[in-house]
Amino acid sequence: MGRGRKPAKDLSFRDKKIVERYNSTPETMSRLAKTYGMSKQRVFQIVVRAKKLGYVIKRKELLTDHHDARHCEVCNKIFQTAGKENLVTTRQLAQLLSIEDKICQWHVSQLRKTGYVPKNFATIRSDRLVKALQFYRDHSLPTNDVGRKFGYKNFYSILSYQKKKGINVERGSKPAFMSDFEQEKRTLPFPTVNQTESL
Ligand SMILES: [Zn+2]
Repeated sequence: MGRGRKPAKDLSFRDKKIVERYNSTPETMSRLAKTYGMSKQRVFQIVVRAKKLGYVIKRKELLTDHHDARHCEVCNKIFQTAGKENLVTTRQLAQLLSIEDKICQWHVSQLRKTGYVPKNFATIRSDRLVKALQFYRDHSLPTNDVGRKFGYKNFYSILSYQKKKGINVERGSKPAFMSDFEQEKRTLPFPTVNQTESL
C-alpha cells in the first residue's frame, strides 16, 4: 500500500461490496476472489484494510458455532421451500436460491443438525429420482409406468428403499412433511412462511 501515493481514507465501492459479501454470505475468500477477478491475497488485504478503517468483520457468525439459522437468509429460504416440498435435491435448492451447491449443502446440513428440517431432507442426490418420486406421489399411475417414464426398471424397489429411509412418497400427501412441520412450527422462531412468492 502507499508507494508514495496517499492511501484512500475509505474503501472503494467495490471493496465495500466485497466486505459486505464476506460478512453476510458464507462465500469464501477464494470464491470472492474469483467473482471479482482478483487474487485471494488481494481479498485478504481488502478485509484487513477494512478492519483498520473500522469496518466490522463479523465473519465468525457464519461459522458453525455462530451460525444462527433463524437469522440466516439462506436457511430461511431453504426452510420455506422445505415446508412446501420435501422431495428436492440440494442442487435444485441451490438453483432456486441462486447460490452455489456447496453453500446450499452447508446450510441444509445446519438445518438438519438443528432439527429444523428432517434428517433426511434433501438427501437424495439425483434430480431424476426426485422428479420420479414427485411424479409417483402426485399422479395415480401404476408404479411400473412411473418407473418406465423416468427410465427406472426397478422403480418398485427404489420406492420401498426410499420409504424405508423415511422419505414420504405417500400418494396424495402434498407437501410431504408439512403435517409434522405444522405441528412444530408453533415452537419455531422463524417468521411465518407466507412470503414464498420471492422464491
Ligand atoms: Zn444458514
